Amino acid sequence: KQLPADQETTNERRQVHQAAFSYVTPRVPSEPKLVHVADEVAAELGFTDEFINSQEFLDLVSGSTVYPDTNPYAMAYAGHQFGNWAGQLGDGRAINLFEIINNNNRFTLQLKGAGETPYSRTADGFAVLRSSVREHLCSEAMFHLGVPTTRSLSLITTGNKVLRDVMYNGNAAYEEGAVVCRIAPSFIRFGNFQLFAARKDIENLQKLADYTIQYFFSEIQTSGKEKYLQFYQEIINRTAEMVVEWQRVGFVHGVMNTDNMSILGLTIDYGPYGWLEDYDPDWTPNTTDAEGRRYRFKNQPDIALWNLVQLGNALYPLIEDLEAMELVLNSFTQKFDVKFPKMMQDKVGLTSDYNAEFQDELITLLTASETDMTIFYRNLATILKSDTPEIAFTKIEIAFYQPSKINTTLKTSWLNWMESYLEQLKVETNSDEQRKQAMNLVNPKYVLRNYMAQLAIEAAEKEDYTLIDELYKLLKQPYDEQPEFEKWFAKRPDWARNKVGCSM
Ligand code: AMP
Ligand code: MG
Ligand code: MG
Repeated sequence: KQLPADQETTNERRQVHQAAFSYVTPRVPSEPKLVHVADEVAAELGFTDEFINSQEFLDLVSGSTVYPDTNPYAMAYAGHQFGNWAGQLGDGRAINLFEIINNNNRFTLQLKGAGETPYSRTADGFAVLRSSVREHLCSEAMFHLGVPTTRSLSLITTGNKVLRDVMYNGNAAYEEGAVVCRIAPSFIRFGNFQLFAARKDIENLQKLADYTIQYFFSEIQTSGKEKYLQFYQEIINRTAEMVVEWQRVGFVHGVMNTDNMSILGLTIDYGPYGWLEDYDPDWTPNTTDAEGRRYRFKNQPDIALWNLVQLGNALYPLIEDLEAMELVLNSFTQKFDVKFPKMMQDKVGLTSDYNAEFQDELITLLTASETDMTIFYRNLATILKSDTPEIAFTKIEIAFYQPSKINTTLKTSWLNWMESYLEQLKVETNSDEQRKQAMNLVNPKYVLRNYMAQLAIEAAEKEDYTLIDELYKLLKQPYDEQPEFEKWFAKRPDWARNKVGCSM
């Protein structure tokens, strides 16, 4: 409320100047129905079971009623999309409701898909059940994997139909409308700063930075230029940490545009994201990025850095010290070059010195053999120091998608790699069991594979929500053995090959 805003509540599309947001009113859905509530998120917010099951809750998370004395708003931001400056974007289908402070933690509740805003541009402001199931389940899966992320409190269907071009058959079709209630301390993005900087609105740029620091970076106690430099440093640290975690679990975001980069270093905007199944560093789940593959798996760290450079450009007017900013920016690579090898080392369970050649060879083999990433690392943990390379190999070959591709040369390379691995294991002081336990804490057993989300979506489209609930429960404990859910520890079935999720 400290920021200037257009006071009028109007959702009409427009360019909005000298304001960080616009007051808007969520669209009232015709027949809202609760599909799923993430009980753990509800608990964090201090919501009781009684409240979650009440009409009041459904009214709130569906946008049917505006909570008394609150002023929902959509934020203005800009950004670079696929490397090009896109100008004003803003929350085209996201509406912030209000904030809750519970146990000294601040949470913003935001509806995604509750209708048009001044920033909807040519789109309708809605979301479909398909993409909302994906966002709801994946936010929570990521959280429980230990990856910094926005959360999802609830998923509802609106009872309204939404027109979409379904990508895989090219036909326009009406789909079920849905709304997700997202949760984060703040939804401020790199793009919010870029908008003011691009308009040379330094006064509001500074106000936004001051607000963000005061509420979300309170550890920063300096003033003047030093304060904004420290702010930049902290964002760099958080972003580097987030990307290392993505690479650890095999998450590919798919749309790392600067408007999709959280200033808090949280994974945000679950659209065409995907999970590496057959290990391919060049894979992207985003079909609109198929040509350049800008946002492919292995590019994510570089793109994070590219985005941080853009953020640096936006913050420059507050710091005006290129040299100091460059030093801070370089810390991204320094930090990444320490964290990434350590993470890769943890994945194979070795505590000795990082061996880059050994890791590179593994990546080459995983790629050449079309190896399921999740199953591979999980099974690698079952290898014993006393195993021969042949026996060790039999423990991981189940992870290959096309065993017939494993010719003699490839097999020999694998056996050589195993031999080297076993040699390194023998000098480890921890036992096989200790190593396995440690590896199983960094290598998840269950991730939200695209086909799993797809099955949950197809059932949900028939109003059967049991699979959403099952996957939610499964993915709450992604590192634990869950015998009752063993069927989800499996390679992607053949029918799901080359299928990706749609974002809209
Ligand atoms: P994204 O690629 O999901 O980050 O979206 C880019 C921009 O388009 C953001 O400003 C979104 O708010 C906006 N947008 C995406 N989908 C819709 C939609 N269905 N209606 C209105 N705006 C949208
Ligand atoms: Mg976005
Ligand atoms: Mg999106």
